[in-house]
Amino acid sequence: MERIQNIRQMQERAESLRLSGKRIAFVPTMGYLHEGHLSLIDAAADCDIIIVSIFVNPTQFGPGEDFESYPRDLERDIALAEGRGAHIVFHPSALDMYGGDPLTGVEVASITEVLCGASRKGHFRGVTTVLTKLFHIVKPHVAVFGQKDAQQAAVVLKMVEDLNMDIRIRIAPIVRESDGLAMSSRNVRLEAEDRKNAARLSQILFGIRDVFANGEPLDKLLEEGRAAIRKIPGASLEYLEARSYPELQALKNKDSDANILIALAARFGKVRLIDNVLIPGESGRKEHEKAPGERNAL
Ligand code: AMP
Repeated sequence: MERIQNIRQMQERAESLRLSGKRIAFVPTMGYLHEGHLSLIDAAADCDIIIVSIFVNPTQFGPGEDFESYPRDLERDIALAEGRGAHIVFHPSALDMYGGDPLTGVEVASITEVLCGASRKGHFRGVTTVLTKLFHIVKPHVAVFGQKDAQQAAVVLKMVEDLNMDIRIRIAPIVRESDGLAMSSRNVRLEAEDRKNAARLSQILFGIRDVFANGEPLDKLLEEGRAAIRKIPGASLEYLEARSYPELQALKNKDSDANILIALAARFGKVRLIDNVLIPGESGRKEHEKAPGERNAL
């Protein structure tokens, strides 16, 4: 497996791979890899070359967020990525990515202001800008994202559509710990007691999904879900909301056609966790069937 740090070198390597007819898959990550990230490598296995980037992107962290304390272990990440079948790990420095005092950014409007965007001002601008840069460096045919960050996946789909980026976006399902907690690099920062209690989050989401399937009104279930999260010892709820997916619009009554995303964010101490479940609507199921070349998490 190759490791590349230099941006120009990565661009030249990607260009020569393209010229030799290779299909490039790209898995962007912030490192500290776990089974969730590695499942994205699996989801890219039909491509000729899988490139994993490891870059803790400073511009997607707000002031007071956990940029400094975000876990990092490059050598371990490289070994894990190689073991799972990645061909290249690209790990640029922040200085190389942003050293030139950039004046340019990429911003997706409106759908970045709800859910996580409501409390993390500028977060998605950081995400879409760094992804645009990485797409220009890695030149992928396919980019793979996790449903774990459902809003991010929706924002990326919109950006790629709006800006005519010639990249197929593939979205892979959430990988969970055995007690249901969504895997996250941040889980290692949970105190032991919080780690145990955090499993309640996914159980509450699954509960809402299952009872909703029996015909209970969603608003009532969400209200009960919020109350249940507030009762988890040590948990502080940021939001629990339902929106259409991937449009991220407020749900209208009788909107039975839409895919429904039920998403939450909650904190345990300084650790902010997100999770979600997706309930496919009639049109979502049809859409999925129409695109057999690309998998999504529905
Ligand atoms: P991150 O390193 O947290 O920025 O995540 C990099 C990619 O891995 C994103 O596309 C995430 O959605 C995805 N990812 C993170 N955790 C999981 C998980 N538990 N299951 C599936 N994908 C995940």
